[in-house]
Amino acid sequence: MSFKKEIDEILEARKSDYTLSKPIIVSIVLGVIAEFIIPILAPFFGILAFVFFYRRRIAIARMPCPRCKNPFGTKSNIVLGVGTSECETCKLSIYAKEL
Ligand SMILES: [Zn+2]
Repeated sequence: MSFKKEIDEILEARKSDYTLSKPIIVSIVLGVIAEFIIPILAPFFGILAFVFFYRRRIAIARMPCPRCKNPFGTKSNIVLGVGTSECETCKLSIYAKEL
């Protein structure tokens, strides 16, 4: 049995962790505009950009492991990163595409 497809999806999602998604870009642009028009609202858009960034990171960390179906990165409520190179539960390596 091969987990290649699922592992590749996790690797692809992790690559996008630091890229700017459309909602993040929009939040930053609105924040810059607000700086000129309603400066008191500018920090709100900064927070919004962070929320979008963090929610995506959680989604990546919680992608299911193809072998044990538990979240591959972390089950924790406090997500600091997208996870290590092994499944948190069954230790399936992200580099082991054939098993
Ligand atoms: Zn697993």
